[in-house]
Amino acid sequence: MKVLSGVSLVPGIVIGKAFLYLDDDREIPHYAIGPDQVRGELERFVAAAREAAEDLRALEKNGGGEKGEQGAIFRAHLMMVEDPDFHYQIKARLESKYENIEWIVFEVTRELSQKLMQSSSEYLRERASDVADVSRRLVRGLQGINPFSLIELEEDVILAARSLLPSDVLTMNKARVKALVMDSGSRTSHTAILLRSFGIPSVLGLSNAVREISGGGVIIVDGGAGQVVLDPGAEVLKDYEERLARSSSVRKAAVLKDRSAETTDGRRVILKANIGIPEEAEELARYGAEGIGLYRSEFLFLQTGQGTEEQQLEAYSRVVRAMKGKPVTIRTIDLGGDKTLPVMQPADEENPLLGWRAIRFSLSLPDLFKTQLRAILRSSVEGPVKIMFPMISGIEELESALSLLEEAKAECRKKNQPFAEDMEAGTMIEIPSAVMTADILAERSAFFSIGTNDLIQYTLAVDRGNEKVSYLAQPAHPAVLRFIKLAIDAAHARGISAAMCGELAGDPAAAPLLTGLELDEFSMTAASIPQVKRIIRGMDFESCRSLAEEALAATTCKQVQALVSRRLSEHFPGPGISDFTGNSRERGNNIFL
Ligand code: PEP
Ligand code: MG
Repeated sequence: MKVLSGVSLVPGIVIGKAFLYLDDDREIPHYAIGPDQVRGELERFVAAAREAAEDLRALEKNGGGEKGEQGAIFRAHLMMVEDPDFHYQIKARLESKYENIEWIVFEVTRELSQKLMQSSSEYLRERASDVADVSRRLVRGLQGINPFSLIELEEDVILAARSLLPSDVLTMNKARVKALVMDSGSRTSHTAILLRSFGIPSVLGLSNAVREISGGGVIIVDGGAGQVVLDPGAEVLKDYEERLARSSSVRKAAVLKDRSAETTDGRRVILKANIGIPEEAEELARYGAEGIGLYRSEFLFLQTGQGTEEQQLEAYSRVVRAMKGKPVTIRTIDLGGDKTLPVMQPADEENPLLGWRAIRFSLSLPDLFKTQLRAILRSSVEGPVKIMFPMISGIEELESALSLLEEAKAECRKKNQPFAEDMEAGTMIEIPSAVMTADILAERSAFFSIGTNDLIQYTLAVDRGNEKVSYLAQPAHPAVLRFIKLAIDAAHARGISAAMCGELAGDPAAAPLLTGLELDEFSMTAASIPQVKRIIRGMDFESCRSLAEEALAATTCKQVQALVSRRLSEHFPGPGISDFTGNSRERGNNIFL
């Protein structure tokens, strides 16, 4: 038996068969070749295209379930793989550039998807992701890597991977992935956020698990403890089976669904949910979510390439309808960083997190942006909708976004498409410059929503997806606390509300402090709502406020954490407190302590 320890992400014990997914194609070899090698490279390409075509034909034929619906996609991919014009372009580029064929395929397809992406036709823009998929399949084939796609999983597995992209999580056959273990990743990466919202028990940051796990072998994932057990003997298996039975009964514990989130002395806060895909909205009522504080609309783009206005409208309307009159805040696309579309291949940018991301991406593609704005506006006929802009770094960006919103409204009016004229437009506060100019931004914002995942990353200069430095990503850092307080105060000085939709908002341990800092709204993974509510209902506001005051005066993370732990133990004596202090085996969603 061997136990590997990593970062606990989604609690839950799963015993099952390991499936290794080694997706190494993200580093594409790039080297020069001699004129005498051109012919050989071309032959390799023709063989890879033939093989890809065979696979695609088989995939297209395969009927039933999730795969059946993918038939049309595979058919489109097949057409491209066999397109004589595409073959001609590859040959011409090879004969002029003298570079290895993997790189030639990558370059030709990237240019093609970039062109498609900039087209004014929605239909053509949508094809960009198909080109990227074909590129990936061909390059994998050339590298001799099995072009298996996670959509094709046919039996229940524990997925073990080096690293997965958010788009991998979206497209994998989630019904079959019972748990996930990953070498890379931290708690606030987008891959982690998606895994949490799908509730897949996961352990991340394992460093080199894929080298130790053998495919097909039985392993145990203990998501709460952040542990993976390899080669468990009969006794250990029995022990985990018993724990499994116990933990599922605990999870059914009462949910304070219909109680309000109010301190014992009457301070009321609002608890909302974060979602990534429309289906999630249908689940929210059972957690008592008072609305959706963050709908990450970019996941629709990652899932389907790009949505047309009508497709987006359908998705947004579905969410708004499911909420039955409760407000829905739709964030405009935050693509880039770790959420890339085909045109943003890794080779494009040295520092994607500081690059062409979120509002910067949207403002540089106004047609695409206005398409989304119109779809959001039009969805407001189904219920209350707010709009929110990600990664605003200063007032000019906000003004540009707002003026495109006005243009989108004028376009809807021209077509007689109804929408809520008074729709609120808010600003995400997730960059230090936004905090420092929050008073200016508040003048043009209907509300603020603090994105702590990015705010921590940019304030402390810690890549949120890099497990080597994740120990530095401390929400309890005095700089982070001061920034949060500055943003909240700037909102209140202007009479607008201050929300938070970063992962910190869903950490029960942080709830008293955030309440004391006078945060108005918390938006989080729906499953965290009952726990956060339980804490808020067990505290009095005065005590939260004095905690916030002391925490703001502290000079180190440790001091802040100690203050928070002490206050929690005073209000929640007994064994329950271990859930929030990090002493418990199940750290779950506690990122604060
Ligand atoms: C954040 O940065 O805290 C946030 C909510 O946005 P995202 O995690 O999607 O970047
Ligand atoms: Mg963010």
